[in-house]
Amino acid sequence: MKDENCIFCKIAAGEIPSATLYEDEDFRVILDLNPASKGHALILPKEHYRNLYDLDDELASKVLVVAKKMVNRLRDVLGCSGYNIVQNNEGVAGQSVFHFHMHLIPRYEGDNVGIGWKLGTLTEEDKAEILNKLK
Ligand code: AMP
Ligand code: ZN
Repeated sequence: MKDENCIFCKIAAGEIPSATLYEDEDFRVILDLNPASKGHALILPKEHYRNLYDLDDELASKVLVVAKKMVNRLRDVLGCSGYNIVQNNEGVAGQSVFHFHMHLIPRYEGDNVGIGWKLGTLTEEDKAEILNKLK
């Protein structure tokens, strides 16, 4: 399943050149063109899925194995001190390319990569509502 208007479909298929770090039958891993830090990479499935909501189950389980392999190789190559794995779903959550992808963002001491949020407090109302609705 491909989307002819999707740039990540074309990159994953090799129709548009990319800085490819790894490729197998299901995925291509590329360097992000606008990296948050040196070595910021993206895991792209070769098939088109808009985001995690409809990602194929088998690919969903494989993608974390690829992420693990990549961060273990790249942390030696890059000499980074940590990693953030980020995966945005829908525009409100920061998704700008609507073909599932997982960000691998190396972290270096003193870098200015801004991944974070203000800590809230879990209220009794929210807790009860969510747990009840999930039943
Ligand atoms: P998101 O905002 O989670 O959808 O992430 C999209 C990411 O794709 C951004 O970090 C962009 O810098 C990156 N990006 C967009 N177009 C390209 C491209 N042609 N090659 C590599 N990375 C890209
Ligand atoms: Zn696509």
